[in-house]
Amino acid sequence: MADRLSVGSLNKINTTSDPSEFPANPVLQVLTVKELNSNPTSGAPKRYRVVFSDSQNYAQSMLSTQLNHLVMENKLVKGAFVQLTQFTVNVMKERKILIVLGLNVLPELGISEKIGNPAGLETVDVLKQQQQQNASKPPSESSSTSSFYGNRPPPMNNAPAPAAKRNAVRAGGGLSTIIYPIEGLSPYQNKWTIRARVTNKSEIKHWHNQRGEGKLFSVNLLDESGEIRATGFNEQVDAFYDILQEGQVYFISKCRVNIAKKQFSNVQNEYELMFERDTEIKKSEDQNAVPMARFNFVTLEEVGKVAKDAIIDVIGVLQNIGPVQQITSRATSRGFDKRDITIVDQSGFEMRMTVWGKQAIDFSVPEESIIAFKGVKVNDFQGRSLSMLNSSTMTTDPDIPEAHTLKGWYDGQGRAQDFMKHSSAATVGSGTNRTAERKTVAEVQAQHLGMSETPDYFSLKATVVYIRKKNISYPACPTPDCNKKVFDQGGSWHCEKCNKDYEAPHYRYIMTIAAGDHTGQLWLNVFDDVGRILMGKTADELNAMQENDENEFTSVMSDASYVPYVFECRAKQDNFKGEVRVRYTAMSVRNIDWKQESKRLVDLIKSA
Ligand SMILES: [Zn+2]
Repeated sequence: MADRLSVGSLNKINTTSDPSEFPANPVLQVLTVKELNSNPTSGAPKRYRVVFSDSQNYAQSMLSTQLNHLVMENKLVKGAFVQLTQFTVNVMKERKILIVLGLNVLPELGISEKIGNPAGLETVDVLKQQQQQNASKPPSESSSTSSFYGNRPPPMNNAPAPAAKRNAVRAGGGLSTIIYPIEGLSPYQNKWTIRARVTNKSEIKHWHNQRGEGKLFSVNLLDESGEIRATGFNEQVDAFYDILQEGQVYFISKCRVNIAKKQFSNVQNEYELMFERDTEIKKSEDQNAVPMARFNFVTLEEVGKVAKDAIIDVIGVLQNIGPVQQITSRATSRGFDKRDITIVDQSGFEMRMTVWGKQAIDFSVPEESIIAFKGVKVNDFQGRSLSMLNSSTMTTDPDIPEAHTLKGWYDGQGRAQDFMKHSSAATVGSGTNRTAERKTVAEVQAQHLGMSETPDYFSLKATVVYIRKKNISYPACPTPDCNKKVFDQGGSWHCEKCNKDYEAPHYRYIMTIAAGDHTGQLWLNVFDDVGRILMGKTADELNAMQENDENEFTSVMSDASYVPYVFECRAKQDNFKGEVRVRYTAMSVRNIDWKQESKRLVDLIKSA
């Protein structure tokens, strides 16, 4: 085994300043694999540090998260041998870090005890120059920390080490010249520049609430090491919105690094960036230095097995483009534009994808183009469909192998093929007693629930903030299970369905209530079962009160207000006088289980 190791390769990587001089595909032994401490409930991917040896030297490295599976599958283990296929050296906290982006485990070499007696790498040139510079100065405090390469680092002053300067890419202008990997960003350091591609740019969003109004936009940024989301507010919208273009590569520095708010993002990063007044952004001259968007495609056949509400990547051939439709959200009375398109792939399935807003109106992709979608939502109920979110991206004819394969298949046989749909049979039954995912009002709106052709279900913790006094109930047929509205014919009530007259109707609730949470307010339709729970009275009782005792009626109404519940809701398109609207209905309601609710909040706080 020892003769297979690329002896001296780590020293070469450590001392050369020119990546083109890096040894190609060095074979190394794994000495240790260590998981970095991270919050287990944060949902962020685990991070691993791996110590590699070439038998002469050892070096610590950071493993790119896309290689985590090798650790989890017990392939990348202590004593194993690997061949690095893609790696880079970055300077972080004034130290060099080996970042491994690709490697192959070599199982044919087996597992072995540590070969040789490898030594930690001295960052010799840095050490010497620093010693000369600092000959008369005492060592700085930072010298007590241990180097990523295993040794104590040389004494450092605040200036970047010469080695770092040599290794750095010149960003020009006032930007810091040290390029950091996105994976290396944290709130604990502020001198950095990243070189990243904008893989997604949101529209400008405006908000108005009690505290004022404003606007914001966000972009997803990608480099070889990972992804991060960046958001700009108000003045930063004016400053940067037009500069940042989807698909282009930029040098970006001097942003605030915050803990990521994961509920608003599909980017896997513990942190996110916020543009500030002195943030610097400059377009990179070298547009090819950074990879294109990363995808983790699911075939359209596999979409059938993916859970509802999952966020996935798909690629397909555009087969059909539907017309733009207008939908009004009852929550906001705002209009939404949507367009359904159909894509197909080699798995023999077709899938409907809903595109929203400006993208729906401007959609001008020719049929039979290849489209790759990143971060789209899976809808179920009647089979499967997909829907873009604000954070989703759509790339036409991307230059990636999957696109070329798909094009070849479509030209060869796909064009003439018939496609299958995921049938609704398997999922219809589960529509009735599902426990839907908890959403906030803001999420219900941002995720366009109820605006596709199939209804969406969600659970909502909210407080009754208003009960509309008009049309609280309607006179219904007293025959069990009829429930049809009956008409007053002066002394008797007539049911058209049963074709019978009755002395008195049986009142049933048909209320409209406003339910609010900390993110907004939603109008909910409420029918008899739920109405009885909310009002604590039957509709007959309440109706009698409304006619006979105004004071008691008012008191029941106010008792029913400002009570919190968990509502199980359905959001569904509704055609009202030719206008398509989204209607939210409270299917059932229950009192809040405070113990369970507190536990949920604790989990949420921990994961924030
Ligand atoms: Zn009837």
